[in-house]
Amino acid sequence: MFDLKGKVAIVTGGNGGIGLGMARGLAGAGARVVVAARNADKSNVAVRELRALGSDSLAVGVDVNDERSVDALIAETAQRCGRIDILVNNAGINIRKPAHELKVDEWRQVMDTNLTSAFLCSRSAYPHLKRAGGGKVINIGSMLSIFGAAFAPAYGASKGGIVQLTKSLATAWASDNIQVNAVLPGWVDTDLTREARKQLAGLNDRVLAGTPAGRWGNIDDFAGIAVFLASAESNFLTGTAIPVDGGYSVLL
Ligand code: NAP
Repeated sequence: MFDLKGKVAIVTGGNGGIGLGMARGLAGAGARVVVAARNADKSNVAVRELRALGSDSLAVGVDVNDERSVDALIAETAQRCGRIDILVNNAGINIRKPAHELKVDEWRQVMDTNLTSAFLCSRSAYPHLKRAGGGKVINIGSMLSIFGAAFAPAYGASKGGIVQLTKSLATAWASDNIQVNAVLPGWVDTDLTREARKQLAGLNDRVLAGTPAGRWGNIDDFAGIAVFLASAESNFLTGTAIPVDGGYSVLL
């Protein structure tokens, strides 16, 4: 079970944070992982790590905000790896401001990076997943797919949208044997939240108090869910949004 040997997986934002945690899981299960992000140095470090796990990994530069760059990523992956089986739409950013202070450019930047990118990557990968006889798309949502926060109007809208996009893709592509699911991380210790801790006073205490597990998630908490959703063992699971949050979303 959970064998990904012979499978090719693209992980956007796979050079750090949750994307790297997922990439480690996929590589460990045998997949060839394409690390797709902007920072080439960071991607090369990640690739070296994944290769040490036995995965014939490679880095392909992409800016997920740019349609042509996304199409080039998918084309280069198909050309160099011969197939595409798994797509993890993980790249994401936040700009923390209440709506009355957020500029429209900032709104668009967050929506483009977090939501439009998932549409672009999925659309471009679809013919390859279909050609492979089926495939897996894993979209990364957030607790802000469920809850609201004053400091995150665009981020929350993008992450709510991720859940609905997941359902649309799941229903459209089920007959092609392509399963599409979302993962909703709780509070995870990454560059993104290190920045948030600097900007939001008291965040650390609130996270610890609100998370029944009593800790921040770490990136390796995301290896297992990635492998499960990428493997044949989840073939009858599609259109869902699974919290991986130490219980944050079920605590009253
Ligand atoms: P992170 O460490 O900051 O990683 C973000 C990744 O996205 C980086 O690898 C970055 O690589 C990539 N990226 C950003 N903009 C990009 C662009 N335009 N094109 C290509 N790649 C881009 O943050 P993280 O916490 O792991 O976040 C990963 C995902 O999890 C995001 O979708 C985030 O919203 C979600 N999430 C995180 C948490 C948490 O607590 N950490 C909670 C819920 C959801 P480059 O800079 O090299 O491009």
